[in-house]
Amino acid sequence: MSWLTGLSRQWSWAALARLDDATIQSLVDAFRDGQPPPDDPGRAPRNTVGRVSLVGAGPGDPSLLTQAALRALSEADLVLADRIVAPEILDLVQGELRIARKLKGRSGAAQDELMAWTLEGVRQGRHVVRLKCGDPFVFGRGGEEIEALAQHGITPEVIPGVTAAFSAPLAAGIPTTMRGYADRVLVMTGQGQGGRHVTAPAFDADTTVLILMGVGRMGRLFEDMRQRGFPPDWPAAVVERATHPDQRVVRGTLATLPHLAAQAGVQSPATVVVGRVVDALQALPAEQTGTPQLVAVAG
Ligand code: SAH
Repeated sequence: MSWLTGLSRQWSWAALARLDDATIQSLVDAFRDGQPPPDDPGRAPRNTVGRVSLVGAGPGDPSLLTQAALRALSEADLVLADRIVAPEILDLVQGELRIARKLKGRSGAAQDELMAWTLEGVRQGRHVVRLKCGDPFVFGRGGEEIEALAQHGITPEVIPGVTAAFSAPLAAGIPTTMRGYADRVLVMTGQGQGGRHVTAPAFDADTTVLILMGVGRMGRLFEDMRQRGFPPDWPAAVVERATHPDQRVVRGTLATLPHLAAQAGVQSPATVVVGRVVDALQALPAEQTGTPQLVAVAG
């Protein structure tokens, strides 16, 4: 095993990312001197106190997991996965796997249960992975979990993931920015905390709007967007189950998409894209957009 491989096995991703220049220099010197890799100061020794990793699973296709996520999944003693995580990814888990329960309208209670399981695992000295779809910090409650764990004196390792916000449009052949089409991006949720209504963004022709958790509320949200200056014929698309084998894309406009999506039976998880970029590569055949095979529904 090379020195670098040794280091990458012993050190968490988060600890490596925190290194300052002086520490990196001392590690390089140690390497030159042929010394063994040092222990990660942030990692508790095994079998004493457990540890927690918040891991992003990406949008669905297992090949979009990061190497750090893959390693965490294979090393973890206990994986607590969100319900939305794809079965192909859950198949990679080596230790015990528990999936978040569906407690209808009581996502807070489901979250409390996951936290209780996490703390129980840590007390038993286990490496607990909280596996979340996409990226843990993009509408993934990663920040909230860090706060909750801090109350128990636990600092988790956080492993980023490929967020659906950007990979869902990509998988549908829609570039989120492109010269002449959009030079900024707004990522928002379609569902306010506790199911509350969210404020629609004001119209800006150069901005791509990406809406997560917005399928059920698309009609109301699009109406509000039109009130705020969006033209009714402004391009919009919805990408359902992006990067899964049964991915579907419905294209339309602010005026037509809610109806077309409902007609096609589009369901969560799906990401809504609003902006000129929706049409940017439309002139090309799908196989020339460099994206996976699409099952596009006419719109
Ligand atoms: N942390 C996640 C988002 C969690 S919120 C991320 O970074 O991707 C859940 C929402 O993400 C879903 O309602 C949907 O809008 C979006 N989403 C997750 N997986 C998706 C997929 N495979 N295709 C399209 N949208 C997806």
